[in-house]
Amino acid sequence: MKLPKQQKRHCPHCNAHHEVVVSLAKRRGRNQTRPLSRGSRNRLKLRGLARGHGNTGRFSKPAVASWKMTGKKVTKKTDFRYRCKKCQKTHTQHSGLRAKKVEIV
Ligand SMILES: [Zn+2]
Repeated sequence: MKLPKQQKRHCPHCNAHHEVVVSLAKRRGRNQTRPLSRGSRNRLKLRGLARGHGNTGRFSKPAVASWKMTGKKVTKKTDFRYRCKKCQKTHTQHSGLRAKKVEIV
């Protein structure tokens, strides 16, 4: 999937069509997106739990098939960010499209 870097789209902040710069949001893991979520090791350490080594019977990983995407879909949904050139605000794509490879030219 190839698409131009600059497009003319509707900006919900200006409520008008303006030139936008397209970028693809980076897919981040759970630990990076919500580092202080309940049950995360980072938060538990702050609270004085999950210290020392070992998994204390709580943090071991389940079987690979249950957390790695084995046997799942080959394509990923896109998550575009549109940055308006006029107001410099960013808005997101409403619904992702499935594509194996995305190129912004
Ligand atoms: Zn705008």
